[in-house]
Amino acid sequence: MAERKRFWLILAAVAAAAATGTFLVSSARSGWIESAAGHPAGRSAEDNMTAATVTVRLINADGRLTEPVQVPRVVKSDDEWRRQLTPEQYRITRGKGTERAFCGRFHDHKGPGRYDCVGCALPLFDAGAKFDSGTGWPSFFRPVAAENIRTETDHSWGMVRVEIQCARCGAHLGHVFDDGPAPTGLRYCLNSESLIFVPGSRQPQP
Ligand SMILES: [Zn+2]
Repeated sequence: MAERKRFWLILAAVAAAAATGTFLVSSARSGWIESAAGHPAGRSAEDNMTAATVTVRLINADGRLTEPVQVPRVVKSDDEWRRQLTPEQYRITRGKGTERAFCGRFHDHKGPGRYDCVGCALPLFDAGAKFDSGTGWPSFFRPVAAENIRTETDHSWGMVRVEIQCARCGAHLGHVFDDGPAPTGLRYCLNSESLIFVPGSRQPQP
């Protein structure tokens, strides 16, 4: 009986994971981001997460993006993350979890502003790049700066997907797919719990 229950639990989990990756990236195409030099998807997995510093773009006093600057990487213990984050934020950002579709507070969120990392407040996405993907998760066609996003190939749940993380603190954000709208053709599929919204800011420009 316990085995049977376990089977259904696993089946439900796989179904949830498949829903997240509505459009699966086949293994044959797993290098599509890594092979695209200068691609806006983000820095590749070769980025050394153990380095003490990382090069990112910040927001200056005028609300504009800075030139790439070297900043200390945000490294915290598990206990520190648990104290800082809500249980759901912790589960998703530090445990690579996924919130349920159409349940996150930003999937249908509109209005000008910026979406920053819930872990370290690094600017990640602007409302001007948000679009309705119909997936139930907040979706963007590009980040504010490719430097601020780190990508990693994700082999979980029998799929090959491209995970996106905050480049400064390593928070799990979601996944990026190549079925997005122009001009990038990319769809950054985010968890609301990974983001904080900063309303009313202008679209950051270099
Ligand atoms: Zn972060």
